Amino acid sequence: MQVKVHGVQLSEVVPLGLFINGAWRASQDRFVVVNPGTGAVLTDVASASICDARDALEAAVEAQDSWRAYSPRARADLFHKAHRLLVSRADLFAETMTLESGKPLTESRGEFKLSAEFFLWYAEQIAHLHGTFADGSHGGYRVVATHQPVGPCLLITPWNFPLLMIARKAGAALAAGCTVVTKSAQETPLTSALFVKVLEDAGFPKGVINLLHTADAAGVSSALMSDRRLRKVSFTGSTGVGSTLLGQASEHIMNASMELGGDGPFIVLDDADVDAAVEHAIACKFRNAGQACVAANRIIVHQAVEEEFTRKFVERAKALRVGNGMEAVDVGPIISERQRDRVHRMVVRLADAGGEIKSGGNVVAGDGYFYEPTVVRFPKASDALCGDELFAPVAVIFPVQSTAEAIDFANDTRYGLAAYIFTKDISRAIVLGERLDFGMVGINRGIMADPAAPFGGIKASGLGREGGHEGIYEFLETKYLALTVKSEQEILA
Ligand code: NAD
Repeated sequence: MQVKVHGVQLSEVVPLGLFINGAWRASQDRFVVVNPGTGAVLTDVASASICDARDALEAAVEAQDSWRAYSPRARADLFHKAHRLLVSRADLFAETMTLESGKPLTESRGEFKLSAEFFLWYAEQIAHLHGTFADGSHGGYRVVATHQPVGPCLLITPWNFPLLMIARKAGAALAAGCTVVTKSAQETPLTSALFVKVLEDAGFPKGVINLLHTADAAGVSSALMSDRRLRKVSFTGSTGVGSTLLGQASEHIMNASMELGGDGPFIVLDDADVDAAVEHAIACKFRNAGQACVAANRIIVHQAVEEEFTRKFVERAKALRVGNGMEAVDVGPIISERQRDRVHRMVVRLADAGGEIKSGGNVVAGDGYFYEPTVVRFPKASDALCGDELFAPVAVIFPVQSTAEAIDFANDTRYGLAAYIFTKDISRAIVLGERLDFGMVGINRGIMADPAAPFGGIKASGLGREGGHEGIYEFLETKYLALTVKSEQEILA
């Protein structure tokens, strides 16, 4: 295989093994990684067995006490070194991400920048963890509350943001003093290998970070989850798998954070700046070919502006350039042929349910797994999507008659990740933002990810937050020490 990345043979720059206890390990079983932009095989990588997984956990358990004992400054120094190395490899990361996930190079660069910022954010938080010191309620003792690392963690990441997901999770866990076993998505193991290589090169001690790729995600993760020495699972992916992991975590009452699916409503009210709403809706819907948990799933538009919004939105969607992410395009491929066929079946179902296809609606012929940016309009709010997450470059527009109808329709879902609202009236934005049953609400903006923001959802969209001041506490336990103290009279007697 002669694939080059950033001008060099891929196998020379990307480790293709597993990283366990500070060393890259080959394995007999391997699986292939495919470029969804061409359909061609990029390479193959080691596939972890259950034995490899146990070794990785053993290494993480072994390294836990010494990693926890690192001073905040010593830990932060390693983070800063890793951050500098990360930044020096920006192009390598961006090209690798585009090759294995298909996303346009400009989006890969954006993801890289955000991921590096997340890593830096956690580096800065290491030295800013505060406890409390208080009087006991009845005197005679003091209440000292401090934080300590949860312990060895399993991090499981999806393919749609191959660097952001691992950088955001591992950054928080390692900063908190936890050791980790991280399992990449089968579709995108290469970016996570590059990330772990950066940590290795920066000098993170052996066993502190371990990386598994595997063709047997369920088997490998079940083996890890059944070991009571694993103290936490942090998962980003579908709600179904999240629910399975929570079931397994309940066995040992294991700490769990879950970033799951979404059904994001994108609400445009009658007083909205329609041009701005269209621009943000295009980004919110078609970024990463719609394969984002926070993507606009239902575009809900007040009837007063719906004709103008839909006309302009369809024009913009038709102008999007679709193609291989290494070229100058706006929308890349769907991650796999299977997923692309799912998208087409879904569009056919929407048309059968009364949706009018305003643009797109077809598989793009040729190599790679492309689908036309598609806009479907329904005459009124309906359950045509059946609560499904589209996860596709398919926008579905529903006109509504009133603000109240918009909010009720938006909340009528089992999910609660991200919602968006466009209005020029700040009171409406605040009050309605508070009424929306979602963990995050974008007000007059369609992109919200930021290291300083607590990212996460409620209801079937998950538990816990990543980023913000909250992110690091997901990997810390509160420890209370009750200190007996003598009275002032005894001391001064
Ligand atoms: P997925 O749940 O199929 O896979 C996610 C990860 O879980 C992968 O690493 C996969 O190998 C692993 N996995 C699959 N089955 C498993 C099992 N039985 N046990 C343990 N691990 C298993 O999801 P996906 O298709 O890769 O990603 C898309 C989903 O992720 C969408 O639902 C999307 O909304 C969600 N997502 C959520 C967020 C968020 O922050 N809330 C971010 C990105 C993606």
